[in-house]
Amino acid sequence: MFEKVLIANRGEIALRIHRACREMGIRTVAVHSTADDNAMHVRLADESVCIGPPPARDSYLNIPAILSAAAITGADAIHPGLGFLSESADFASMVEEHGFAFIGPSAEHIRLMGDKVAAKRAAIELGIPVVPGSEGGVADVAAAADWAARIGYPVLVKAAGGGGGRGMRVARDLEALKSAVPAAQGEAKAFFGNGEVYLERYLAKPRHIEVQILADGQGGVIHLGERDCSLQRKHQKILEETPSPALNAAERERLLEIATAAIRKLGYKSAGTIEFLYQDGEFFFIEMNTRLQVEHPISEMVSGIDIVREQLRIAAGAPLGYRQAEIKLTGHAIECRINAENPETFAPSPGCITSYHVPGGLGVRVDSALYQGYTVPPNYDSLVAKLVVHGTSRNECLMRLRRALEEYVIAGIETTIPLHQRLVAASDFIDGDYDIHWLERYLARD
Ligand code: ADP
Repeated sequence: MFEKVLIANRGEIALRIHRACREMGIRTVAVHSTADDNAMHVRLADESVCIGPPPARDSYLNIPAILSAAAITGADAIHPGLGFLSESADFASMVEEHGFAFIGPSAEHIRLMGDKVAAKRAAIELGIPVVPGSEGGVADVAAAADWAARIGYPVLVKAAGGGGGRGMRVARDLEALKSAVPAAQGEAKAFFGNGEVYLERYLAKPRHIEVQILADGQGGVIHLGERDCSLQRKHQKILEETPSPALNAAERERLLEIATAAIRKLGYKSAGTIEFLYQDGEFFFIEMNTRLQVEHPISEMVSGIDIVREQLRIAAGAPLGYRQAEIKLTGHAIECRINAENPETFAPSPGCITSYHVPGGLGVRVDSALYQGYTVPPNYDSLVAKLVVHGTSRNECLMRLRRALEEYVIAGIETTIPLHQRLVAASDFIDGDYDIHWLERYLARD
């Protein structure tokens, strides 16, 4: 096993990885920007190295600085966390070229799944159903119009290099397509440096359901059930739950079987997630994430398996610690993403935490790097805490979640806690009756 791991990330996820390392007796190295001198991940790590100024491109995305920090501190492995460099195939291969272990999949699999056109092609070969759409990228409006006529309107124009819902445009007719294609191309080029776009049928009322996979690259593949991430705003997940209230036992079994069979055939290694849209009893592949995900704790809560520990073990060459038959998924878990944002306008709200009280009790877990007196910097993602609740049933989970939300005090900044309090009281949510557009409709209602 590794002796020292460098965590190339910040915030709650850096802390999450630190915790797994500590439990395994592995020493940790934190890296941080000057905006994060007082961050909790820096305070708790065994060692820390400042890698640059606040802008992420100069610090958390600064590959030479991160590799130097690993060399100076004598780390033997690097965990990229999520966001930042976690889906950079170049980073993964450079880490290995410099003699460190990369805690994640092979650079080849990261590259394949990072190009959504290639990923979709791979999904078809792996036997995963996909959303009907263009075969490969579309170069211009004329090509897009040909495909749209075959697929049927409305269509979604998506960026091949996409992520975070960017570079996506819905077109309801040919007229709309004429502006959607250049708009998506422009946004894709600006955000991802790759202007390639492709077309998909736009599903009217799908749910976003994804499968958490662990694979050791030695033939061992398991799933930890599915997660329903349909509560979204601007294609960003807000709240996730497992199991999905939408699936019956036969559908769930089919979904988990499709995902594990594909991962086995791919020869994948490490943790990964296959994301699907689900509508009218059918599943369609949308993408695969070759990294740890923000919402991974709900799968841990129902399975009892520490996903980060398994990532560390797999990267060190160990086989999976579990067989599928040994995994019992019990009860229900929900995660609320708490952002430093105004709960109505969603304007960012960085600043000093003047008072802080964390909820506790049976079945309550808070993953956060906040503390009283800490100042949330304006430079990074607004996610500041994840409230994760487990119960024996969905109803118990909801009752516990309402109580925990009520107890959570984060003063000095605005947070999305009041939004979550509204959601857990909304009858459609209580009934489990929602799709990926439900939240935006709900927010537009008042
Ligand atoms: P990204 O990489 O930008 O997150 P995804 O392909 O994962 O892009 O899609 C993000 C979200 O966009 C999905 O969770 C879903 O809400 C919506 N979406 C994607 N594809 C479709 C589609 N074909 N029809 C309707 N909604 C879609």
